[in-house]
Amino acid sequence: NEYQENLIPYTHAQLVEKVKEKLDDKRFEHCLRVEKQAIQLATENEVDPEKAGIAGLLHDYAKQRSDHDFIKVINEKQMDPELLDYGNAIWHGVVGAEFIKDELHIFDEEILNAVRKHTVGAAYMTKLDQIVYMADYIEPGRDFPGVDKARQITHQNLEKGVFYQTRETLKYLIENGRPIYPGTIVTYNAWQSAQ
Ligand code: GDP
Ligand code: FE
Ligand code: FE
Ligand code: FE
Repeated sequence: NEYQENLIPYTHAQLVEKVKEKLDDKRFEHCLRVEKQAIQLATENEVDPEKAGIAGLLHDYAKQRSDHDFIKVINEKQMDPELLDYGNAIWHGVVGAEFIKDELHIFDEEILNAVRKHTVGAAYMTKLDQIVYMADYIEPGRDFPGVDKARQITHQNLEKGVFYQTRETLKYLIENGRPIYPGTIVTYNAWQSAQ
C-alpha cells in the first residue's frame, strides 16, 4: 500500500481518496480501471508499474473542472494561447497536469507527461505515455465498435495500439464534424511508421 519513497507524498489509499474527492462515481471508477489496466500494460512492457498505476489513476483528475478554471490556468501560466480555441476534451489532460502539481504536489515529470499526453498523444511518447494513452482506451469499461480489436493489437504490440487509437479517434472526430486539435494530427503523422 506504500509507494516507493519520495515518488509522491501519499500512500495509495490517500491518493485514491484525493481522486475520488474531485470526480463523480462514474469517472472515479473509470480512473480505478485505468490504473489497473496501466499496471497490466506496464508489466507486459517492462515499465515501472508503480508510475503507470499513479499516472493511470490520475489521468482524468481535472476532468470535471469548469471551463473558467482551465482558462484561468492557461492565462496565468502563459500556456499556448491556441489551447483557448479548444475545450475540456483537450484541456483536462494538457492543462490538467497543472492541477496535479498545484493541488497534489506531485512533480514527477514522467507521470505528469503521461497525463498531459493521454488524450491527444504526441510525436514522441515514452513507454509510460503510451501505456496511459492505451489503458484509457481499452480499460474493461470501454465499449465501442473496435474496442476488442484495439485490446488485441495493444497487448500484442503497444506501438501499433497507439497508431490504431489515433487513427480511429481521428476518423470518429471527422465523421462527427468535430474540430481537430493540431496535436492530434501531429501524433497521427508521427506514428504512421508503427502501423
Ligand atoms: P476520457 O477523458 O476518458 O473520456 O478520454 P480521453 O481523454 O482520451 O478523450 C476525451 C475526449 O476527447 C474524447 O471524446 C475524444 O474523442 C476527444 N478528443 C480526442 N482528440 C480530440 C481532438 O483532436 N479534438 C476534439 N475536439 N476532441 C478530441
Ligand atoms: Fe481523459
Ligand atoms: Fe484517451
Ligand atoms: Fe480517461
